[in-house]
Amino acid sequence: MAAPWEDVLREEAAVREAARLAVDAALLAGVLMRTEEEPNASEVVNYAPFTLLPSAVPSALFEQAYAVQQDFNLLVDAISQNREFLEHTLASTIKVDDFTARLFRIYTQVLEEGLAQSVFLGINRSDYMFDCGADGTPALKQIEINTIAASFGGLTSRTLAVHRQVLKVLGKAEEASRLVPNNPSQGLALGIVKAWELYGSQSAVVMFLVEEVQRNIFDQRCVENELWNRNIRVIRKRFRDVFEKGSLDDARRLYIDGQEVAVVYYREGYVPQNYDPQNWEARLLLERSRAVKCPDIATQLAGTKKVQQELTRPGTLERLLPGRAASVARIRATFAGLYSLDLGEEGDKVAAKAIAAPDCFVLKPQREGGGNNLYGEELRHVLEKIKDSPERTSYILMDKIKPQPSKNYLLRPHSPLKISECISELGIFGVYVRQGKEMMMNKSAGHLLRTKAIEHADGGVAAGVAVLDTPYLV
Ligand code: ADP
Ligand code: MG
Repeated sequence: MAAPWEDVLREEAAVREAARLAVDAALLAGVLMRTEEEPNASEVVNYAPFTLLPSAVPSALFEQAYAVQQDFNLLVDAISQNREFLEHTLASTIKVDDFTARLFRIYTQVLEEGLAQSVFLGINRSDYMFDCGADGTPALKQIEINTIAASFGGLTSRTLAVHRQVLKVLGKAEEASRLVPNNPSQGLALGIVKAWELYGSQSAVVMFLVEEVQRNIFDQRCVENELWNRNIRVIRKRFRDVFEKGSLDDARRLYIDGQEVAVVYYREGYVPQNYDPQNWEARLLLERSRAVKCPDIATQLAGTKKVQQELTRPGTLERLLPGRAASVARIRATFAGLYSLDLGEEGDKVAAKAIAAPDCFVLKPQREGGGNNLYGEELRHVLEKIKDSPERTSYILMDKIKPQPSKNYLLRPHSPLKISECISELGIFGVYVRQGKEMMMNKSAGHLLRTKAIEHADGGVAAGVAVLDTPYLV
């Protein structure tokens, strides 16, 4: 799977010069992040970390990942409408995981009142690694699907131009011309536009629900600008603003600062730290409203690790997607082994297996955002401690994916330039819009390649571990 520039990587002077140029190109192209020191100011910004060179991605697996994206859109949407499945699947989890339980309470509360929302917008990102089998053949294996606040679609839209230029500078112009076009920020925006149109109020705005700390604002601005360019007004608000100034009218239309909100695009609200009691109240208000939530709370629950694990049980996909055998087959082909740790005989066996061979598995809690999973000795230690307690149920177990590493330079502000052994994770963005029972849009919207040094087991770009990359198809 080596890219055709292993030779270039060893030419130190050329690499150094290319790295300087790459950083300037990234700044010019808008591959930007606010700094750790001043996460809420744009006076001083820096480039978002990225690889010096594109990483090799097997073209068959890249195509497979694109080909299954519309199936995953259908699946997530089907789960979000299946109360019985969500109740049954999350029953054990919500007994021990307070965060999932709170989301679930809002979910049932909103259903009991009756949904005011009739247009649904899903923006997700399905992430994969290339598992290297015993014979060395790589296979596409899903790591997870993110159904809320899937990020870096904006910045990755701008990374391509940087890599194109770096390749040209290093004498690889022909290869540069073969990099695949990619513009998720536009694709995501078109989904938001469709939802906004179907909501049907010319004067209503799109509200980005954003965090208190907004280091990754430029990624969001890329999507925001696409909307402004189409004459749709965008406002940025926090849960706190919604709590203080949000209200519903008799038809449960959502208003804030006197403006009607057509679409709420969450870039926040996926981890417990995002919520205090007032923020939970704000979340409930949003969910009760008629506004199109991206995602609604049911779709957020469809993205939990517990749901992912239950999907691998024989017969589950068939039940969720009746009459869609081809979709089911495409989806199932991307599944790695996933195992329930619910209390009982099945879970006992799984726990014992993981304790005996901790390097073959990943232990995952119901959390998002990177840095929460457990590996190796730590996995063994934690599982031994909780193996007979209900706490075990708050985790799932997954086969560890083992990709073939390759060499690259990871460019990060204030870090020395050094070569690293790296592995990559490919994400495909999916967008869909449903009105009532009718699918109005179902698309893939571009890709994201993130690469990290092999010494890091976990963590994404925002967590400071992975960096932005561009696939070079081989
Ligand atoms: P999160 O919701 O925190 O992003 P993920 O399931 O995506 O959780 O895991 C975070 C990171 O951990 C991934 O980006 C990947 O690098 C690593 N990881 C997760 N699952 C596996 C696995 N089965 N095998 C190898 N690495 C994994
Ligand atoms: Mg992830």
